Amino acid sequence: MLKKVLIANRGEIAVRIVRACAEMGIRSVAIYTEPDRYGLHVKRADEAYSLGDDPLEGYLDPARIVNLAVETGCDAIHPGYGFLSENANFARLCEQKGMAFIGPKSDVVHKMGDKTQARNSMRAAGIPITPGSDGNLADLDEALKLANEIGYPVMVKATSGGGGRGIRRCDTPQELTAQYPRVISEATKAFGSAEVFMEKCIVNPRHIEVQILADSHGNVIHLFERDCSIQRRNQKLIEIAPSPQLTPEQRQYIGALAVRAAEAVGYENAGTVEFLLAGNEVHFMEMNTRVQVEHTITEAITGVDIVREQLRIAAGLPLSYRQEDIQFRGYALQFRINAEDPKNDFLPSFGRITHYYAPGGPGVRVDTAIYTGYEIPPYYDSMCLKLVVWALTWDEVIARGKRALDDMRLHGIKTTAQYYQQILEHPDFRAGNFDTSFVPSHPELLKYSTKRHPSAIALAIAATIAAHSGW
Ligand code: ADP
Ligand code: ADP
Ligand code: MG
Repeated sequence: MLKKVLIANRGEIAVRIVRACAEMGIRSVAIYTEPDRYGLHVKRADEAYSLGDDPLEGYLDPARIVNLAVETGCDAIHPGYGFLSENANFARLCEQKGMAFIGPKSDVVHKMGDKTQARNSMRAAGIPITPGSDGNLADLDEALKLANEIGYPVMVKATSGGGGRGIRRCDTPQELTAQYPRVISEATKAFGSAEVFMEKCIVNPRHIEVQILADSHGNVIHLFERDCSIQRRNQKLIEIAPSPQLTPEQRQYIGALAVRAAEAVGYENAGTVEFLLAGNEVHFMEMNTRVQVEHTITEAITGVDIVREQLRIAAGLPLSYRQEDIQFRGYALQFRINAEDPKNDFLPSFGRITHYYAPGGPGVRVDTAIYTGYEIPPYYDSMCLKLVVWALTWDEVIARGKRALDDMRLHGIKTTAQYYQQILEHPDFRAGNFDTSFVPSHPELLKYSTKRHPSAIALAIAATIAAHSGW
């Protein structure tokens, strides 16, 4: 088993990894940059080292991080998500220094991180991919020609993209002409690569993804699916496991497809295969070669500790489970509580948390790095807390989600929590009937009152009026 792991990340996922290490008797090493000095991952890890004043550079410096891991006697590095997690050079550097990279081999990170290469590998393996370009687009002329062939609407996407950025839908040649340079400039700024490709836009699809685990002995299993269709601007807000909108046959088919995809590229460790579903059609979209933000809901329904499995796999151990051991029970929801103001176009709302009361009770899990008095730095992700609820039935999990969101008190910043309560009230959501158009089609859900219990207050006023008017 591993003895000491450096966690090349921050925030809630770093804390999540520290927890897995602690339960397995593995020593944990945190890194931080000065704006993060008071981060919970720094307090919670067994050791912590500063990587300088710049908020980001230290977290993005492969050589410095790998050297620190060597100097501090670590035998592995967990990259978390974001930052260097899908950086093939980082994985390669680990391999060269004899440090276990907790993820797949660097060539697989490379192949799957490049979305056009991933599409080609999947096509070769007989996995149905979203129709689109064979490789990257050379120029706008090629884009216009291809769009004519596959038919509008189309998506122009950054080849190295992630986090929902660098993706634009184009409904006409005029739009494509206008958006094409924008995607290139966004991709260059965000991902340091000007490469873009094209996909047919699947209209109002469901985003269904499958959690995979693969060990170094050739065993590959899936842990069923997550439904991440509740998105805003291609970014996930609420995730659900299992999807309330799959038949058992679809579930079996898509799970097997994901296993085949992982096997085809010699995948190792935890990963996620993302698909778009339209009616009965399934299209491979991308593979994320890392732990995902929403791995929590799969843990809730299967009982498998995914980060623990990641550490075991990196130590060369076989998977703890065979496919037939994996069962799921009930439903889980994850709410990404973002420090944003939904009423102001989701503008980031960083600052000091004056009061935080954690939600609790049956079936509730919170993954976060915030605490009362903590100041959310403006340099990183706006996601500040993951609230996960589990219950036996769909109706119960919705009720539990509402109750837990209500339990939570997070003062000092604006968050998306109240907005999520409106989504839980919507009849289509409650009926388990939604796709990626749900959020943009329901702008009225943003018109909620920011008073905590408007209905209770209204009732009290009505009762007072009634008492005074002698009804
Ligand atoms: P998940 O795929 O786990 O659902 P997200 O797509 O929301 O997660 O991404 C999680 C975090 O990782 C976000 O902070 C996002 O900006 C970052 N991220 C994801 N992919 C990339 C990438 N290719 N380059 C840089 N950051 C990324
Ligand atoms: P990222 O790497 O940023 O996660 P993805 O390729 O996974 O990017 O796409 C993110 C989201 O964008 C999807 O969940 C979906 O809602 C939307 N999307 C991407 N490609 C398409 C497409 N071809 N048709 C329709 N929607 C798409
Ligand atoms: Mg994705």
